[in-house]
Amino acid sequence: MRATVDQAPVAISITDLKANILYVNAAFSEITGYAPQECIGRNESMLSDRRTPPEVYQELWGCITRQQPWRGRLLNRHRDGRRYLADLTVAPMLNDAGETTHFIGMHRDVTEEY
Ligand code: FAD
Repeated sequence: MRATVDQAPVAISITDLKANILYVNAAFSEITGYAPQECIGRNESMLSDRRTPPEVYQELWGCITRQQPWRGRLLNRHRDGRRYLADLTVAPMLNDAGETTHFIGMHRDVTEEY
């Protein structure tokens, strides 16, 4: 399972309940430009271009705090400053008691599709 996630061709990150990054796979580093040691412990908001309307984030958090997955597109900023359009899915990870323990984020750079 670990090897599959590590090698998946989509940027994967796992966070705590405040979106602080705990794990990233190789594709996350490739797509964002950040090595694991540069992003683990930081918040996912480090990727925000700050141009995505706040309503998008409110909808995202509204969904995941209701334990629903959210999928949408937002503008991210690569480590080198370049903007890219991310097709992002964020989903809650639940324990056996049905409580959310972590969030998983999965995104692709879809800039070239536009
Ligand atoms: P924030 O301070 O995050 O606030 C934005 C809105 O979100 C507010 O309405 C606030 O109330 C709400 N909110 C924030 N934290 C919580 C919380 N813990 N509980 C309930 N509501 C909350 N953002 C990106 O821009 N790009 C990404 O690729 C990206 N990937 C993510 C992956 C995962 C797994 C998760 C959980 C989040 C991801 N986010 C991503 C969202 C990110 O965490 C920020 O919410 C977003 O970047 C906006 O940051 P901000 O500092 O501008 O605003």
